[in-house]
Amino acid sequence: MMETSTTPIWELRDIIIEAGATDIYKCYQCGKCASVCPWYQTEAVNFPTYKFPLAAQLGRIASSEGKEELAREVEEVYRCVGCEACVEQCPQGVNIPNTLRAVRRILVDYGSYPDTLKPVVSKIHNVGNPLGEPGEKRRDWAKDLAIPLFQPGMEYLYFPGCFPAYDPRLRKVATSTAKVLKKAGVSFGILGEKEWCCGEAIRRAGAEKIFQEAAQSNISAFRNAGVKKVVVTSPHCYTTFKNEYPLLGADFEVFHITQLFYQLIEEGKLKPHQLSQLPELGEPNDSKSQRAKDPIKVVYHDPCTLGRQNGIYEEPRGVLKNIPGLELLEIGDFSHQFALCCGGGSGGLWLDWPKGERMADIRVQQAIETGAKVLAVACPYCLQMFEDSVKTMNLGLKVMDIAELLAESL
Ligand code: SF4
Ligand code: SF4
Repeated sequence: MMETSTTPIWELRDIIIEAGATDIYKCYQCGKCASVCPWYQTEAVNFPTYKFPLAAQLGRIASSEGKEELAREVEEVYRCVGCEACVEQCPQGVNIPNTLRAVRRILVDYGSYPDTLKPVVSKIHNVGNPLGEPGEKRRDWAKDLAIPLFQPGMEYLYFPGCFPAYDPRLRKVATSTAKVLKKAGVSFGILGEKEWCCGEAIRRAGAEKIFQEAAQSNISAFRNAGVKKVVVTSPHCYTTFKNEYPLLGADFEVFHITQLFYQLIEEGKLKPHQLSQLPELGEPNDSKSQRAKDPIKVVYHDPCTLGRQNGIYEEPRGVLKNIPGLELLEIGDFSHQFALCCGGGSGGLWLDWPKGERMADIRVQQAIETGAKVLAVACPYCLQMFEDSVKTMNLGLKVMDIAELLAESL
C-alpha cells in the first residue's frame, strides 16, 4: 500500500480529504479494525486496514508512479467490501470504507481502477443497469404475473433492483416477492424501464459522477410517478435510498421487503402454511417421509448492508420463525452484527478473487457447519456469491431468498 519512501504527499492528502476521508486524523493506530475485517478470516490475504488512515494522512495511498506498483496498490484499495465491520468496532469512529471510497474516486477519475469494474460503470451510464440489458426488458420478469405499472393512489412502488429484474436466477426472487404481495392484497406497482440501477455499488467503487446520474434519474422517475413509499428487494438499494438519496432531494419512505413481509404476517394478512419439503433440496440420505416429519433446518445470513449498516436483524428472522416447518439456526459467533460479509459489496461482486481469497467460501462453510440444509438470505448479492461458492465447493446447501421461502409456504 505505501511506498518505501516516507515523504508525505500533502497535495494528494488534501484531495483525498476533499473527496470524503474527513476522519482520518481520529485514528490512533490501535489495529482493532484489522481484527474484525473479513479479510482477517482468509488465510491467504494480509490486509492491514489500520494502515489506511495513516497512509491517507500522508497522501501515500495508491500514489506509486510505477505501473506494476500502482496496480498492486489499486488491488489493495479495491479489496475493501464496505462491510463496515471495522466502523462498528473502531473506538474512534473512523470510517475506513469512506476513506477508501475517497481514494477510489480519485482512481476512477484517472481511469486507474480494476478493468472488470469499467464495463459495469459504463453499462450503468449507458443503459441503467450493470448487466447491459435494454431498459425495455426491465419489466419482463413480471409479464406472467400481470403486475401493473405504478399509478398515483397505489400504496407501494416495488423496486426489485437490477439483478432480480434481469438475471434468470434472481428473477425468481422478484416473482416470489410479487406473488407474496399479491396474496396479502398489497396495493403496488412497478416502474419498468423507468427504473434505473440505484447506483450504490458504483458509488462505493468510486464512480461518483455515474452514481449521481443514476440517483437523479430514479429520484425524478419516482417524483413524476407520485411515489411515496418504496419497497425494495436489495439492501443495497435500501441503504442508498434511505441514507443517501434524501441528501440529493428525494422525498419518499423506503422499506426493505423483509420489513413489509413481517408487518403483513403480524397484521394477519399473510398466514404461512407448514413447509415440509422444498424443491431441489438435496438430502440424499433422508427418506421423503422422514423429511416430511423433520423441520427444515435453515440458517439466516445477515447481509452487512441490512444488519450492521441499518440495524434490521429481527424482521427477517421474524418472517422465518413464522413459517411452520422451519427450524431457524444461527452461525454462532458470526451472527447479527458479527456476521461475515459475503464479499459482494462495493464492487466485490465483479472482482474475481482466487480460491483461498473468497469470503463467501468461508461463510458457506460456517453455514453448513450449523447443520442447516438451507442458507436463507435477504440480498441478491449474497445469493449470487453464496450460490457460486456452494457450486464450486460442491456443498449440499441450498441458498434461498426469504421471499422464495415465504412464497413456498403460501
Ligand atoms: S480501529 Fe479505528 S482507531 Fe483503531 S486503527 Fe482502526 S481506524 Fe484507527
Ligand atoms: S469495511 Fe469491511 S472489508 Fe472494508 S476495511 Fe472495514 S472491515 Fe475490512
